[in-house]
Amino acid sequence: MNVLVINAGSSSLKYQLMDPETGAVSAKGLCERIGIDGRLTHKVGDRKVEMDIPMPTHSEAITAVLDILVDKENGVIASTDEIDAVGHRVLHGGMKFSDSCIIDDKCIKAIEDCIPLGPLHNPANLMGIRACQAVMPGKPQVAVFDTAFHMTMPPKAYRYAIPKTYYENDDIRRYGFHGTSHKYVTRRAIALTGRQDIKLINCHLGNGSSLSAVKDGKCQDTSMGLSPLAGVCMGTRSGDIDACVVQFIMNKYGMTADECLNMLNKKSGVLALSGVSSDFRDIEDAAAKGNADAALALEKFAYEVRKYVGAYAAALGGCDCLVFTAGVGENSASMRARICEGLEYMGVKLDPEKNNVRGKEALISADDSKVQVWVIPTNEELMIAQDTAELVGKM
Ligand code: ADP
Repeated sequence: MNVLVINAGSSSLKYQLMDPETGAVSAKGLCERIGIDGRLTHKVGDRKVEMDIPMPTHSEAITAVLDILVDKENGVIASTDEIDAVGHRVLHGGMKFSDSCIIDDKCIKAIEDCIPLGPLHNPANLMGIRACQAVMPGKPQVAVFDTAFHMTMPPKAYRYAIPKTYYENDDIRRYGFHGTSHKYVTRRAIALTGRQDIKLINCHLGNGSSLSAVKDGKCQDTSMGLSPLAGVCMGTRSGDIDACVVQFIMNKYGMTADECLNMLNKKSGVLALSGVSSDFRDIEDAAAKGNADAALALEKFAYEVRKYVGAYAAALGGCDCLVFTAGVGENSASMRARICEGLEYMGVKLDPEKNNVRGKEALISADDSKVQVWVIPTNEELMIAQDTAELVGKM
């Protein structure tokens, strides 16, 4: 089976053609500068092709993707009939979606209704969906939501302690993000430990970072909130912050709420703390050369992740398994070691040699560690392809 996985942004569109059973990716790529001029980067194995193609809208971008997938020289399929279904990443499913969904008029209306909650991403995701409908009419399509995995949280985790009207009338609550990644690593952790009922803490640490507390495969709590700004500090996001800081800065510097939020989303986090970069590799290099601000950024990031791990162990009543995933979680042995330092009291003991691993599935805890610690590379595209295949198979 071939599933075309699409992640549409406002001016970009990522794609992968993959087999949901084996996870084999036959081709993948990126359309950029949609609405400006248009550029396609297409990869088949190690071979990469780049070309400028006019893309006034997402429809031309999807057409360019389909053209190259069937292209004699660079393509991997003979005709688009070989694409069985399309799976779309959609940011916000609000309270309407606790699972992936076949795309029909009702589903599109519900994604539209969630635009106030995901004002930047949902409209772009919809452009990708509509473009596929226009270019491949009748092809089964599925929406996979970044929020869906977290919908099993109990009210004590998702409700904010603010007047009820904002929840009842405006859907203001914790939703959480990176759900497709948390779902994927949860499935893998259950398979790797052979236990469905494990108390699991997932650390998705990348440019954006979030943690989830999971029991019996179901999310009990997560660190991001109504938006991806909440939780631990990240590449450029502040993470949790006292709302009075926002009021102070807006009043003193005459900033609008949008300007202030832009600062908290794009100019804060380890970028602001280090003054060096939002990229953890650059910060680790600078810290190694004696830059004190870079060292503080790493220390604070590890401290915040460690605090969430402790909080989630308390929330779950223990922890059997700790998982590291995404760019930093999969690749930075030193950050994993920093985070786990001080978690010995709850039975976390890393094996320094086993921890010396990058980008592959590995058990990195010591044999006598009470908590199993795993590195599990995430694969959101595979999760999207599998959900798509499952739902389309059911049609
Ligand atoms: P995104 O949230 O954009 O999907 P990723 O999950 O790809 O991000 O993570 C990107 C982050 O991973 C970057 O900050 C990068 O510095 C970090 N990263 C990648 N490789 C390493 C490494 N070897 N050591 C430390 N950090 C790394």
